[in-house]
Amino acid sequence: MNFPDLHRHLGGATHPRILWGYIEKHPGDQSAQLRTRFPAYEDFAREFNRPFVDLADYLTVHHLVETLQAEDVPYFTLRAVRGAAVFESIDYLELRFNPYKRTPPGLPPVERRALMADVARQVIRAAQTEFPIATAFILCMDRGFAPDLNRAIIDLAAALPEVAGVDLAGPYQPGGPTPDEWRELYAEARARGLRATAHMAESDPEDVHTALFPYLDRIGHGIQIALHHPHLLPELSARGICLEICPTTYLRTNTLHSLAQLRPVFERCADSGVPLSIATDNPALHGDAGRIVGQYELLVRDEVIHFSDILRYAAVGYRHAFGATP
Ligand SMILES: [Zn+2]
Repeated sequence: MNFPDLHRHLGGATHPRILWGYIEKHPGDQSAQLRTRFPAYEDFAREFNRPFVDLADYLTVHHLVETLQAEDVPYFTLRAVRGAAVFESIDYLELRFNPYKRTPPGLPPVERRALMADVARQVIRAAQTEFPIATAFILCMDRGFAPDLNRAIIDLAAALPEVAGVDLAGPYQPGGPTPDEWRELYAEARARGLRATAHMAESDPEDVHTALFPYLDRIGHGIQIALHHPHLLPELSARGICLEICPTTYLRTNTLHSLAQLRPVFERCADSGVPLSIATDNPALHGDAGRIVGQYELLVRDEVIHFSDILRYAAVGYRHAFGATP
């Protein structure tokens, strides 16, 4: 069967072996730096497969990948998309990325900003492949970016027909928009016809922003809402907000020690009528279980869902897609 995947970051979508192959073939500045830090492939792969302390530690690998991907965005995009089609039977993929973080980090901010549109177009073009997969794109705003830079990302998303929506991502850090400013940014994105999701309630039970609910079509993760604030589930249901559940992420970020802990999430969401879609987030950091089939397999194994539910959960993904599904 085929699967949709609504939550995958470009930065977590290329296997370390692909990144290493690039490093070996392209001896640029970034490659040289990485080869000093990681003399052999085994050292490099260990950085991806090591246990992470928490979400912040996990996101440091993103930073490493983003800088490398900035050197040749089409190279990594093509490999991410065709790999998803061939090795994971994904026929509908929403690929998300922050266009600013894929511009050369050595350039002045104003030049990086000017390059964002070019980078986004390169990603979109490179994702066109002869393999049977439809790809839509989500541009990520960042928790640490100033409001006007996040607004520039919305402007870009609205200008590119292949970009279906926006997201709020990145590590927690000072300097980003206030809650009111985030609300304004999301209101603006919706007013411009964009669909919207936001990383929320992933590992921190207090990372819940109800003021954004009216603007969201989906929430990235949101598991802490079901676990710690189940009284909010009826509102999510009434608004038709779908949660993007990425099981192996919660193990890799030490958010959960067993996927059996997701049982109440699935039960409470089913009781309240909150749709759940199963997704991968960053398969490159999750080992063999990181593929989309691995997510379903682990949920079945830990008796969170039944085998016979698999088709139903896949259907939810197609139904809540931001782009045109096959
Ligand atoms: Zn994510």
